Amino acid sequence: MRLLLVEDDVMVASGIKLGLSDAGYAVDWVGSAERALEVLAEESFDLAVIDIGLPGMDGLELTRRLRGSDMESAAMPVLILTARDALQDRVQGLDLGADDYMVKPFELPELLARLRALLRRSQAATSAVLSFGPIELDTAGRRVGARQPAHDGESEGRLLPIELGPREWTVLEYLLIHAPKPASKDKLLQALTGWDREITPNAVEVYVSRLRGKLEPYGVALRSIRGFGYRLELAPGTS
Ligand code: CA
Repeated sequence: MRLLLVEDDVMVASGIKLGLSDAGYAVDWVGSAERALEVLAEESFDLAVIDIGLPGMDGLELTRRLRGSDMESAAMPVLILTARDALQDRVQGLDLGADDYMVKPFELPELLARLRALLRRSQAATSAVLSFGPIELDTAGRRVGARQPAHDGESEGRLLPIELGPREWTVLEYLLIHAPKPASKDKLLQALTGWDREITPNAVEVYVSRLRGKLEPYGVALRSIRGFGYRLELAPGTS
């Protein structure tokens, strides 16, 4: 998942960026609404965290312009950050199309929980668990595994854990959200990248190939679609 953070306070922004990166998100950070608009015109994101109090154009105006634009990320979830007691700002923010807000200062775990909820809603998933065939990825519990057939007397089979690195996790999550549709290599690259990270299209292939090796034993194939990207498929006989 790729997040855009718009925050002018360097200390606050560094803290949020670090916390989100640790949680497996690719985070791009800009310090002004003007810069955010430039970036949004060029690249796509899955969610934005926007501080209302910014130098120049404020976060409310940025949200309004985003929603009214034809940019690729125009409809992405937006969480606004507000100062304490700025009730009017929060109301206005929600009216302008923000999906949620947090009052500063806040605890990182709460921000993470809210972002997960927003992403789940926007990806039209009904629960925190994304699945494809026997593969289950629990976005809240940060667990991924392969569900085994249930034995007599069990309501569900055991989940065999699959160990994934953070980048492999990001690739699998993206593929699961979009399955059975294929995911383009470009989008996977965007999901993996932050501007401060050097990730090349070749690196996407490396993570895909590692992931493929970990999914194949469970009957899930990660098929390459030439000139486009990748798609999850079930091997014959897998359910
Ligand atoms: Ca600020």
